[in-house]
Amino acid sequence: MSSNVLDRFLQENLGDLKEKGLYNVIDPLQSANGPKIKVNGKELINLSSNNYLGLATDERLKQAAKQAIDEYGVGAGAVRTINGTLELHVKLEEKLAEFKHTEAAIAYQSGFNCNMAAISAVMDKNDAILSDELNHASIIDGCRLSRAKIIRVNHSDMEDLRTKAKEAKESGLYNKIMVITDGVFSMDGDVAKLPEIVDIAEEFDLITYVDDAHGSGVLGNGAGTVKHFGLSDKVDFQIGTLSKAIGVVGGYVAGKKDLIDWLKVRSRPFLFSTSLTPGDVAACTKAIEILTSSTELQEKLWDNSKYLKQGLEKLGYDIGNSETPITPVIVGDEVKTQEFSKKLNEEGVYAKSIVFPTVPRGTGRVRNMPTAAHTKEMLDQALAIYEKVGKEMGIIS
Ligand SMILES: *Cc1c(COP(=O)(O)O)cnc(C)c1O
Repeated sequence: MSSNVLDRFLQENLGDLKEKGLYNVIDPLQSANGPKIKVNGKELINLSSNNYLGLATDERLKQAAKQAIDEYGVGAGAVRTINGTLELHVKLEEKLAEFKHTEAAIAYQSGFNCNMAAISAVMDKNDAILSDELNHASIIDGCRLSRAKIIRVNHSDMEDLRTKAKEAKESGLYNKIMVITDGVFSMDGDVAKLPEIVDIAEEFDLITYVDDAHGSGVLGNGAGTVKHFGLSDKVDFQIGTLSKAIGVVGGYVAGKKDLIDWLKVRSRPFLFSTSLTPGDVAACTKAIEILTSSTELQEKLWDNSKYLKQGLEKLGYDIGNSETPITPVIVGDEVKTQEFSKKLNEEGVYAKSIVFPTVPRGTGRVRNMPTAAHTKEMLDQALAIYEKVGKEMGIIS
């Protein structure tokens, strides 16, 4: 018999979400997650994936994965510290360190897992973490898991960071203090003020931690936000994901050799969860090789981003202040934003609405993620649909 308490909890809460129109229905893709996707039998221009460079469907990655599967099988068979470390994992980690210009790197099963792993391996209840209020959910959870005191910092507000760092330092309450930030903030596409953050960190002895999930493969000739600012030797933890620009799945921490050695003996997802599969690892390694040998895909990505942004701006849309390919179209009202996304979908564009509580109330937006795999024709088609729907709904005139 199932629990009545649970049944009641679920019915009440699911009912509440559905009543308020906040229950998210997931549409499965009937195709690969490329620049065009098929959903409910209909082909749509895809402006919602994080597959920035189009590598998720790249032939070279697919070949590398197939070869690795033939040689090593589909699963790694154990956690990394028992005997789930294949030569392939070691090679990937060497490539990642090279790619990030650090001494060493360690791979995890996801970017989310990196934050679960790395923060609590170093921070504990006698420490404090200064965390930007717009940091990713996995950073927030990783901080909580560590039991350190979490000090919220106003978004990219360097005065607030400095004040709070000074207070924390001078209080004498904490053994260690860390500052954590996204490299690129995923909802607005703005870039963290890393040079100032590093200065403040030096002044108050802070450990620095940058999660560059949306910056790697995109900024700094592909190496990410830290490299973009020339700070590769000044940031202690560089987190990246293998699931966005790299196009596969997984995550990594890059840093000094001692730090990586410590994570190999103390970070729980490394010790207690089976390692990345051979196919995934081989595909990731191929992606890093491609990224380090040519900037062609990054150039295509930025070119397409500029094209889409200019087109949307010319139509009269408010596209915020993004400094990266992430392109929000800000509508404001939550209900109208959702309606807008739905109409775009009906006309042939897949672009998700993002509303409160993911973004502040009254700043609902449809978020567009152009990639290197889009053609100009696809973007023109998308812009034509944006024009039609925006005019029909009175969002643009
Ligand atoms: C997407 C994202 C993650 C999660 O990465 P996955 O590899 O998808 O688990 C972590 N941190 C940030 C900042 C992200 O944007």
